[in-house]
Amino acid sequence: MTNEHLHEQRPPAERDPVAGPVADAHAHRGGLHGERLHEDRLHEDRLHEDIERVLVPSAAIAARVRALAAVIGEDYSHADGRLTVVPVMTGSLLFAADLVRALPQRRMRIQLTTVSSYGGTHTSSRGSAIVGALPKHLEGHHILIVDDILDSGGTLRLLRSEFMARGAADVRACVLLRKRIPSAMSTPAEYVGFDIDDEFVVGYGLDYDDLYRNLPYVGTLRREAQRQEPRAGGGAA
Ligand code: 5GP
Ligand code: MG
Repeated sequence: MTNEHLHEQRPPAERDPVAGPVADAHAHRGGLHGERLHEDRLHEDRLHEDIERVLVPSAAIAARVRALAAVIGEDYSHADGRLTVVPVMTGSLLFAADLVRALPQRRMRIQLTTVSSYGGTHTSSRGSAIVGALPKHLEGHHILIVDDILDSGGTLRLLRSEFMARGAADVRACVLLRKRIPSAMSTPAEYVGFDIDDEFVVGYGLDYDDLYRNLPYVGTLRREAQRQEPRAGGGAA
């Protein structure tokens, strides 16, 4: 597990180079309406403004996803047609979408599951529970759970035991991030993207009060962007 690129000092307004039609659209707008481009920028950057520090830049995520996919593809080379990928909603939405596209193109099923966490906007999953229907027909299948971040370990423990109880051949977990805290480090996870310090992070699927999931990188939130009153009740992690 390499942590290169971690803690790279970059301004929050990190951007990928734009290419193709998107770049053309920007060039077109800038060329014809220079002043409007400035307005658009201000509008577009609103989300970035709330970010204090970029922990994992998007290029580092992309490289790591490719590396993980190569290893996972190799490990499951025997499982054509019997692999079920289970992304944990909503946090792993972006990660899982990128990961499955980078995997070798074999037959696999993708079945979403949602796990709720209780305890407010800074979700820790003490008391996690599966919401809605469980993935179906797991008997004899190799299950790969894909989650955004490993924190207390409650989500992975819960899903592993449920899937094994439903007759899965084996269950493995792939997480983008793992916090360097005992609860996370002691929870088995076969594939880990990055180990990070124990900070609350958002972006690339991870939310604060359901915001920031669409950021292309993982970062920490400015204090001013966080509400003082934590929201009660559970939400989709
Ligand atoms: P667990 O505590 O069960 O290992 O992780 C449960 C869930 O809590 C994660 O899938 C994630 O949705 C949420 N979570 C844990 N740490 C963080 C964090 O730093 N930021 C965000 N946005 N969510 C987190
Ligand atoms: Mg989650």
